[in-house]
Amino acid sequence: MTFTAAASAHRPADLPTHLQHFINGTFVDSAGGKTFDVLDPVSNANYATAAAGQAEDVDRAVAAAREAFLHGPWPKLKARERARVLNRIADAVEAQETRLAELETFDTGLPITQARGQALRAAENFRFFADLIVAQFDDAMKVPGSQINYVNRKPIGVAGLITPWNTPFMLESWKLAPALATGNTVVLKPAEFTPLSASLWARIFQDAGLPDGVFNLVNGLGEEAGDALVKHPDVPLISFTGETTTGQTIFRNAAANLKGLSMELGGKSPCVVFADADLDAAIDSALFGVFSLNGERCTAGSRILVDRAIYDEFCAKYAARAKTIVVGDPHDPKTEVGALVHPEHYAKVASYVEIGKSEGRLLAGGGRPEHLPEGNYIAPTVFADVAPDARIFQEEIFGPVVAITPFESDEEALALANGVKYGLAAYLWTTDLARAHTFADGVEAGMVWLNSHNVRDLRTPFGGVKASGLGHEGGYRSIDFYTHQQAVHITLGMVHTPAFGRIDKGEQR
Ligand code: NAD
Repeated sequence: MTFTAAASAHRPADLPTHLQHFINGTFVDSAGGKTFDVLDPVSNANYATAAAGQAEDVDRAVAAAREAFLHGPWPKLKARERARVLNRIADAVEAQETRLAELETFDTGLPITQARGQALRAAENFRFFADLIVAQFDDAMKVPGSQINYVNRKPIGVAGLITPWNTPFMLESWKLAPALATGNTVVLKPAEFTPLSASLWARIFQDAGLPDGVFNLVNGLGEEAGDALVKHPDVPLISFTGETTTGQTIFRNAAANLKGLSMELGGKSPCVVFADADLDAAIDSALFGVFSLNGERCTAGSRILVDRAIYDEFCAKYAARAKTIVVGDPHDPKTEVGALVHPEHYAKVASYVEIGKSEGRLLAGGGRPEHLPEGNYIAPTVFADVAPDARIFQEEIFGPVVAITPFESDEEALALANGVKYGLAAYLWTTDLARAHTFADGVEAGMVWLNSHNVRDLRTPFGGVKASGLGHEGGYRSIDFYTHQQAVHITLGMVHTPAFGRIDKGEQR
């Protein structure tokens, strides 16, 4: 680990001290006046309060969104007109990139260089769905002489969007862009640890010409505001990203109203390094794969499985590099790992580091860096020789902690890769083409990268299997989630209809 100066007290200019809901085009507090505290992860001091949405606030937001859906112009606009608004949104996000990154880094503890990429990716999501809805066409089928059928694609209504605190603005854009592009109206419930950047959407949307009521934001705790949104009868869709256990709760709570659900959940993804891999490239990628975004990354390659033939060499080189990762002030451009989002999350990650000390051989890190006595800092931590039944092998830690395990054969590597409840991503390092494709086919993961970390084209499906999620978003799959595909059948001639009840002409019945 390389030292940077002790955490700076960097505070963005014009930092709001109170964050409100945004309902029907207006910033408002909770009807009952309830608030919660928001803190920054470097000082852990409360820098703001946020309105704590209750059921009555969610009711107001849903009512506004429903009104905008039923009687407003947005759902009925031509695709090109909606696309123009989406492109203006993308322009505004890009134009605010520096400010957004600064706020995101301040609120989440993500290194500033990595937060910058998030704003550009968020803008790209809007451009992408603007393009997609304009190019979108649907099936029409002709049954010669008898029918023409076509798909009439329609927005569904009020979409409830519930998002996590890791890369919050970017993950919100994943849901906002397709939900709005397809003509729905939305209520966004951002994560309570990181509500700061979400409030920027309101002005961005208003300035871009999104009609009032189309976008609504309710801040608050998951068990209050999130729960009310999930249970609301006028919200037919919930798109959720977060922990698997929360996803299960939402699944149960959405059952009463049979909602459409998209679930992007946790992960414990394997990075499998075979002996024939380009070792230096694999090490670069396996380091970035788990230590970027502070390890608070759903697709983190947090289990590294290494061919026994190169195991010792891999572990030695990997640990040496982990020790030189720059941990420090998230606002410092040299920082590679910043502060974990919240003291509660810090305590969780720190407890896994302690558990790991009895489950594996500690090669790097192991706790708080000495030069950072304050703030939610954990040194990049590497455990080797981790058994497959260890908790640090099985459970999502969501921090800068990695478990390395050796394997003797392709079969054993596959069994280890699949031997957890999650199935989000898998990363394979090999130069053997047949092995790569065979392993990709066998691995239980929604997404596989061969000889790469997570680099994703927006057209590809995104989603996990097993406990990592339900359904896929990405490209046309997001369009499908946020729309009904109504089948319209047009008869071209007389349809043969059995004449039930007609006995006058002696027809057979
Ligand atoms: P979380 O599940 O604690 O919270 C996510 C959101 O759900 C928050 O807005 C929270 O307020 C809300 N929530 C909590 N309880 C709720 C309830 N009962 N009803 C309705 N809403 C509720 O997750 P987190 O800690 O914010 O985020 C980290 C998790 O997200 C990790 O498990 C990570 O793997 C996962 N994640 C998954 C993906 C993916 O695409 N698969 C992407 C990013 C993060």
